[in-house]
Amino acid sequence: MIPSILPTYNRAALTFETGEGSWMIEADGRRFLDLGAGIAVNVLGHASPVLIEALTEQAGKLWHVSNLYNITQQQALADKLVDNTFADTVFFTNSGTECCELAVKMVRKYWHDKGQAERVEIIAFEGAFHGRSSAGIAAAGSEKMVTGFGPLLPGFHQVPFGDLEAAKALIGEHTAAIIVEPVQGEGGIRPLADEDLKALRALCDEAGILLILDEVQCGVGRTGKLFAHEWAGVTPDVMMVAKGIGGGFPLGAVLATENAASGMVAGTHGSTYGGNPLACAVGGAVMDVVADDEFLSDVNRKSGLFRQKLEGLVAAHPDVFEEVRGAGLMLGLKCSQVACGDVVAAGYDNEVVTVPAADNVVRLLPPLNITDEEIAEAVVRLEKAASQLDAGK
Ligand SMILES: *Cc1c(COP(=O)(O)O)cnc(C)c1O
Repeated sequence: MIPSILPTYNRAALTFETGEGSWMIEADGRRFLDLGAGIAVNVLGHASPVLIEALTEQAGKLWHVSNLYNITQQQALADKLVDNTFADTVFFTNSGTECCELAVKMVRKYWHDKGQAERVEIIAFEGAFHGRSSAGIAAAGSEKMVTGFGPLLPGFHQVPFGDLEAAKALIGEHTAAIIVEPVQGEGGIRPLADEDLKALRALCDEAGILLILDEVQCGVGRTGKLFAHEWAGVTPDVMMVAKGIGGGFPLGAVLATENAASGMVAGTHGSTYGGNPLACAVGGAVMDVVADDEFLSDVNRKSGLFRQKLEGLVAAHPDVFEEVRGAGLMLGLKCSQVACGDVVAAGYDNEVVTVPAADNVVRLLPPLNITDEEIAEAVVRLEKAASQLDAGK
C-alpha cells in the first residue's frame, strides 16, 4: 500500500523535533551537529532569535494579502537585494525551481521582444541541478531526472561542466542564454574556476546572449561572499536565489538587470504566495545579518579553519576520503574507497549530519554562524565516522 506521504524521498530513520543554532535534537533526545542546514537553507542555524522575532512580529500583523496590493516587507527586501547586488529588479518565488521557470521565461521573452523570437535555446552544464519543475529537469537533462517525464520542455542543451569550448561551439542564432551554477551543489560541490566564470561572461558578451547564474545553493553568504559570482568579479544578467535567503522559511528570488527583465511587463508572470509578508519579513532579517562585511569575513575565516581540519581528516583516512573541495562553508569531502552514503550513515551513528551529493561527495553546508568550537566538534565526529568505516573494511 502506498504510504500516506508520496514515497519520492529516501529518508533516514531520524526525526528531529527541535533545533538550536547548529544542533538538532532527535525525538530520542540525541543531539546532532548539523552540517547540512536543511541543504544550505538554515544559514543562521535553527531557532535563530532574530528570525523568530521577524517571523512572529509579522505573524501578529498580517500573513498574506496577494500581489494585487503593495507589500511593505517585499519592497524592503527587494530594495536590499538591489542595493547589495548587480540587480535592478527582483521577483519573489517560494522555491528554487520556480526561479528556474521564471529565468527561462524571462530570457525567452527578452529575445521575443527584441524581434528574435527564434532565440529560445539555453545551454546548461552536465551535473547541474536547477530544480524539479519541467524547466528545471529539462535544463539539467540528466537521465535520472528526466526519464519517464517526457515530452520534455524543448530548447535545452548540456555540455560537460566547465567545458567552455563545447559551450562556445553550441552558441548559434537560436541561443538565448547560458545557465550555470558557480558552484555545483547536487553535482558534488564542484566550483567553476573564477577564470572560467569570467570566460563564460565574455563568451556571452561576445555572442550577445544572456548569462543566468543559479545561486540557489551557493548564494546568500555560503561561499564567503554574498553571492558566489562576486569572487570572479563578473555579474550575470539573471540570477536564481532561494534556499538560504529564507533561512528556513520558503522563499526564492529571481534577480535581474533592467535590460534582461525588460520583457516582463504586467501580466507576464505571477505567484500567489511569492513575496508574501511572512517570507519577506524573514528574508529581510536574513539579509540584515548576512549582507555584512564582518559576517562574511567571519564565514571566510571559519572556512579556512574548517578546511585545515578537514585536510587533516583526509590525510588520516585516505581509504575513506580523497580530497576536500568547495568554497566558504560550501565544502565537499570526495570519498575514495567508500560510498558517500556510507559516510553520511556513519555520521548519523556519531551524531553529525551531512548530505550526500553526486560524484561520491559528502556535502558540508553548516549554518553560516557555526562557531569555532562546533567546527572542531564536527571534525571530531567526522573522524569517529571515518574510523568506524576504516575498521569495517
Ligand atoms: C536546491 C536547488 C534548486 C531547486 O530549489 P528547490 O527550492 O528545491 O526548488 C535549484 N538549483 C540549485 C542549484 C539548487 O541547489
